[in-house]
Amino acid sequence: MEDRFVYADNAATTPIDKRVLDKMMPFLTTEYGNASTLYALGQSSHRALEEAREQVALLMNADPKEIYFTGCGSESDNMALRGYLHSRQAKGKKHMITSCIEHHAILYTAQALEKEGFEVTYLPVDEYGKVRLSDLEAAIRPDTALVSIMFANNEIGTVNDIAAIGKLCREKGVIFHTDAVQAYGHVPVDVKAMNIDMLSLSGHKINAPKGVGAIYIRRGVMVEPLITGGGQEKNRRSGTENIASIVGLGEAARIKRENLDSEMAYLRGLSRKLIDGVLKMPQTILTGHPTDRLPGTCSFCINAIEGESLVLRLDMNGICASTGSACSTGSLEPSHVLLGIGLSHEISHGSLRLTLGPQNTEEDVDYILERLKGVVDVLRAMSPIWHA
Ligand code: PLP
Repeated sequence: MEDRFVYADNAATTPIDKRVLDKMMPFLTTEYGNASTLYALGQSSHRALEEAREQVALLMNADPKEIYFTGCGSESDNMALRGYLHSRQAKGKKHMITSCIEHHAILYTAQALEKEGFEVTYLPVDEYGKVRLSDLEAAIRPDTALVSIMFANNEIGTVNDIAAIGKLCREKGVIFHTDAVQAYGHVPVDVKAMNIDMLSLSGHKINAPKGVGAIYIRRGVMVEPLITGGGQEKNRRSGTENIASIVGLGEAARIKRENLDSEMAYLRGLSRKLIDGVLKMPQTILTGHPTDRLPGTCSFCINAIEGESLVLRLDMNGICASTGSACSTGSLEPSHVLLGIGLSHEISHGSLRLTLGPQNTEEDVDYILERLKGVVDVLRAMSPIWHA
């Protein structure tokens, strides 16, 4: 096939949808009022802010009053963990539970809280990356304040049994936060049906801009602010609101809600074709759960290959892919997620993540399969550890 450009790293970030950009443009140009002001220009920003809040809430069955805008998914995660634990400190609740394969926005925050004197249990996961309910139940203590388990994993795409985790936490009277940065807008999320108390999401994973996120905090859950100041977002997140990006996030949420079922079906079809094609190569495995996975996430380990070399050679062919998580690229340590699901260092080094989005086509998948096979053949021919 002729050379082409294929962006297959949609878990790292996504392109901005044209409709999202169009909706944002007035707020980057003529509609520049501060949403806290009383005159008409500011009130127009205020209305746009509240409209976006409603759209973000609708896509998770929340009340708009329970949505707070932030600067990114990492900030939402920090706010959930630090803000909630700090608010419980005086009550003697000093313990939280998370899993060992969370994003670093959770893991490093949990480690920082340990330094402050909080206690953290890091649950192991099964071979697919799911938290076992029995492990969670056994880890809950009388002083457990918070459980934070990711909705879907960013490296292997496995979707946790969130409704079951939420039910258990509610029964035990423990607050449940989920990092839904990879799930929101990609699979159905219902904070009420799933008994979720707090949820983090990020704009740039759903075709909205970078630098905007949100957190859902169920009414009645106490969370101390990370940023104090002018009292925006009902005192929970001060700072003049980034109206244009928030409007973009709202529009992206609306588009995802209208198209969720068809987009999921489309991406499952494309991913099936890509996964089947890649697994035809010898000594190649799928990582993550075979069925309970994000519709666009295809993740593999390819034996006797270095993931970094693979990604660079794919780039030379116009294909954007990643190895492990985008955030850990650059370090030679194998990903904590792959080690967490029990893979060896050696196998983990050959990890490849291809994440498809609605803009990808069947031709993109054919192209990836053709070029990937060529690149793998070349790299294996040079590999001292390759034995066919
Ligand atoms: N949580 C998960 C699961 C993610 O995949 C990411 C980003 O890759 C984040 C949190 C951080 O989100 P942001 O980039 O908006 O800070």
